[in-house]
Amino acid sequence: MMYIVLPLALFINTVVWSQFYQMFNTSVDPAFVDYKHRFERHYGKPVSVGINFGEMENAVGVCYYVTGNIEIDKDYWDSVGESAREELIFHELGHCVLNKEHNEYMMGDCPASIMYPELTPGCYDKHKEYYIKELFDKFYPIGYNGK
Ligand SMILES: [Zn+2]
Repeated sequence: MMYIVLPLALFINTVVWSQFYQMFNTSVDPAFVDYKHRFERHYGKPVSVGINFGEMENAVGVCYYVTGNIEIDKDYWDSVGESAREELIFHELGHCVLNKEHNEYMMGDCPASIMYPELTPGCYDKHKEYYIKELFDKFYPIGYNGK
């Protein structure tokens, strides 16, 4: 019985009903269209995923694996520049499209992957070319997380 009750309780706690609509919203807010296109150019094909603003407490972005939709915190989005926005969208698309999990490897003072659990806009600026290669090329060596 434990095995059934526990995951169910977690599921109900995690999926707040007010967010239910957002989970199934496959539209892309105009704010994110350019970033999605940029991702698709690197990826080499179009991706089917909704990206919209939402309000969240403990994160600035979230990927709903079940529906493949992304929600972005508007306060964070409005407070950062171009590069940090790309880092956030690419990170969430890394989850939702590339099925990547978090990667906590470091290279010096910077994460070895854009899939690091926290955003580091300074590092992203500095090593952008590397991060994009690491994100899309699964054979790219440093920070390779086994996916
Ligand atoms: Zn993440």
